[in-house]
Amino acid sequence: MKKCQLCNCEDFDIFNEHQGNKLVECKECGFIWLNPLPKREDIEKAYNNAYNNTATSYFSKVEKKLFRSKKRLRFMRKYLHKHKNIKFLDIGSNGGFMVEAARLHGYESTGIEIDPYSVNYARENYNNNTFFEGDLESYYKINNQKKFDIIYCSEVIEHLIDVNNFIFLIKKLLHRNGIFFLTTPNIRHWRRPKNLVAWDAYCPPDHCLYFDNNSIETLLKKFDLKIIKRMIAFKPGIKIIAKHMF
Ligand SMILES: [Zn+2]
Repeated sequence: MKKCQLCNCEDFDIFNEHQGNKLVECKECGFIWLNPLPKREDIEKAYNNAYNNTATSYFSKVEKKLFRSKKRLRFMRKYLHKHKNIKFLDIGSNGGFMVEAARLHGYESTGIEIDPYSVNYARENYNNNTFFEGDLESYYKINNQKKFDIIYCSEVIEHLIDVNNFIFLIKKLLHRNGIFFLTTPNIRHWRRPKNLVAWDAYCPPDHCLYFDNNSIETLLKKFDLKIIKRMIAFKPGIKIIAKHMF
């Protein structure tokens, strides 16, 4: 990548170099990414391996996951402009815990997930929801008339190669006044280990985009998504709610 995909600035410095992985930092907006970015095929390969290794342990602590999901939904409720006929979408829905919690909240609930194992788990356990197997692009191709009141996307965007297209599609799928709940690691969080490679969210090439408070705002602003709430994160992460304002 020759320029910053958030602000188009062509001026960037090396932020960190370790075992052949070079992170660069945009001088304008502070966005950090793995340069060169991985190829799409490599990401898919790494992703499949990661899931195969963790699949058995992943769906333990189900009750805890549902409890946390319900708590987050109660929190999001305050930022909704209406409370009836709410359509909820989770991008990167894993085992479907958040989707199920949203359904129990009375919402019409959909999950998008690329990992077939997770989608099967979700369909088997929480079958009163809609689960789509694939990425956001393929979902949008066949559901481009749909609109959602809440789009939830937790720990996904750090894996992407093209974050602009991703946010563009989110904006398309979001109702006017709809809310977008987003989390991603924060590389400039005060609690991030000083030694970058000791940070659990440092995992190139799996995590190839690294945001901070400023760069995430730069990204969302481009698509007229306004940050209306920043939550305090004790883990080095960003947790925000943005709103479709136009
Ligand atoms: Zn930039």
